[in-house]
Amino acid sequence: MQLARFPRRRYTPSFTPMERAPNLSAALGGPEIWMKRDDLLGLAAGGNKTRKLEFLVADALAQGCDTLITVGAPQSNHCRLTLAAANKEGLKCRLVLEQRVPGSYDPNASGNNFLYNLLGVEAITVVNAGDDLNAAIQKMAGDLEAQGRKGYIIPGGGSNALGALGYVACAHEIAAQSFDVGVSFDAIVVASGSCGTHSGLLVGASSVNFDAPIIGVNVRRKRAEQESNLLKLAVDTAKLLEIAAPKASDVTALDEWVGPGYSLPSDEMVEAVRMTARTESVLLDPVYSGKAMAGLIGLVRRGHFKRGQRVLFVHTGGSPALYAYQDVLRQS
Ligand SMILES: *Cc1c(COP(=O)(O)O)cnc(C)c1O
Repeated sequence: MQLARFPRRRYTPSFTPMERAPNLSAALGGPEIWMKRDDLLGLAAGGNKTRKLEFLVADALAQGCDTLITVGAPQSNHCRLTLAAANKEGLKCRLVLEQRVPGSYDPNASGNNFLYNLLGVEAITVVNAGDDLNAAIQKMAGDLEAQGRKGYIIPGGGSNALGALGYVACAHEIAAQSFDVGVSFDAIVVASGSCGTHSGLLVGASSVNFDAPIIGVNVRRKRAEQESNLLKLAVDTAKLLEIAAPKASDVTALDEWVGPGYSLPSDEMVEAVRMTARTESVLLDPVYSGKAMAGLIGLVRRGHFKRGQRVLFVHTGGSPALYAYQDVLRQS
């Protein structure tokens, strides 16, 4: 397997830091927590989608496309970063925004929504949950074609096999850093949404026999559905690389920290975002990394992770969304 066979654009100059979180570890009185700082990836305000876009945008350019089309929720980090990559490459970008929560799109909202405007999105189409998302995307591509342009459709979250290669690469990066620093991990904890991040990590870790269990914390779906989606994408990704797929028994995606639903706040998320900010000055987000950290904290309190163990939290980014959740996060 050679990842270098796949065309790739570079949006981050080097590895992201892998650093200890001593104050957070002390506050919890549990395992030694480390963070893989993928919130510090390149493109505007960073986050996990940057790694996937390195492969996806390279493919768009190889196909001679002039416009990136993608889809996400109104506060989508993925949409922000796709738009940022388009700007870097001299491409245009059009977005389909899905109101997974009815009425959640407000053109004047803060956070990522504001950044779509600042970064100069070419067009936005808003659809309601349950509407035919695919039809809206195809219409967008058709409109461009009618003008003699060529759109490149990136799936939600950049989560297809090509995008997941970004997290195959990240798993290799983690293995290299772990060896370099001389620390081994008892587990990796990561937010699990559209699956590209978690599935890519699974494939990358298994490809180098990096044996720390990878524990996903779901942000939207029930456990069984998420685990089946994860396995499917992991199988597709392994096939693209022509290597063996991870085993079904290696796929774990806990659903106890979804809270009331996708993007909806929970008390555990608020506690996790505050605690991480106040101990480590690291900004999580309300939709993904805050819920993933809530999961890690919950697992420590349950005694699943113990003192003497080492856990790596993959910080997938998302902090711009904080500014759209000030009401929930501000302490009165
Ligand atoms: C998209 C996203 C995730 C989830 O990653 P998937 O690859 O969609 O599972 C986690 N954290 C942040 C900040 C994200 O934007």
